[in-house]
Amino acid sequence: MCAKIEDKKHMTYEDLLKGNEKFVADTLKEDPEYFNNLAKGQSPPVLWIGCADSRVPANQITNTKPGEIFVHRNIANMVVHTDMNMLSVLDYAVNVLKVKHVIVTGHYGCGGVIAAMGNQSVGLIDNWLRHIKDVYRLHDAELDAIADTGKRADRLVELNVIENVHNLCKTSIVQNAWRNGQDLSVHGWVYALSTGVIKDLQVSATNTSNLGEVFKLNVAP
Ligand SMILES: [Zn+2]
Repeated sequence: MCAKIEDKKHMTYEDLLKGNEKFVADTLKEDPEYFNNLAKGQSPPVLWIGCADSRVPANQITNTKPGEIFVHRNIANMVVHTDMNMLSVLDYAVNVLKVKHVIVTGHYGCGGVIAAMGNQSVGLIDNWLRHIKDVYRLHDAELDAIADTGKRADRLVELNVIENVHNLCKTSIVQNAWRNGQDLSVHGWVYALSTGVIKDLQVSATNTSNLGEVFKLNVAP
C-alpha cells in the first residue's frame, strides 16, 4: 500500500496523457459512438457537492458514468452562502439542468475537518476552515464530550455535512425551486475511505420545514 502511494508521487503529466489515450481506445472499443453520444449534451439527475480529496471521486464510488452526476468539490464539501462558485453551480444545476437531488458528501478522515479541529495556522486556508470551526461551535457540547480525537473528528465530519445540508436549504435557489413546485431533494452522506461504504445521514429535505423561521424566504411583493 505504501509503495503504491510512493509510486503515485512519481507520476508525470505525460502519464496522464498516456492514460487518456488508453481511456479513449478502451472506450471506443466498447462503444464506438460513446463520445458522439456524450457530446450531444447532459441531463444529470444529481448535483454532488463533495470534498476535493483525491480519494473521493463521485462517479467511481457511486458506480456511475460521465454524464450522470454534476459535480462541485471544495475543501471539506462546504456550502458557504457567499461562495459565488458554489452558488453558480447550484443555480445552473437546479434551474437549467433541473437536477432532482443535491447531495452533500463528506468523508471520514477529512483533512480539512481535522485541521479545523486544531489550532495550527495553515495560511490562507485558515479562513476557509473557519466555517468548519463555526460548525464545531454550534455543537461544542456534544463534540467536547467525545474523548477520543478520531471519533470526535468523525462526528464533526457528520455534523459538518448536516449543517451544509441546512445551508443548502437556506439558499434562495433551493427555496425558490421548492416554492415553484420543482421536484428537488437535498441529502447528506458520509463516505468511509477505509471501507468504501457511503452512509446516508438521513437528513434529506424536500421543503423548508426543518429551517428556523428567520431563514424562510417569502416571495418579493
Ligand atoms: Zn476532505
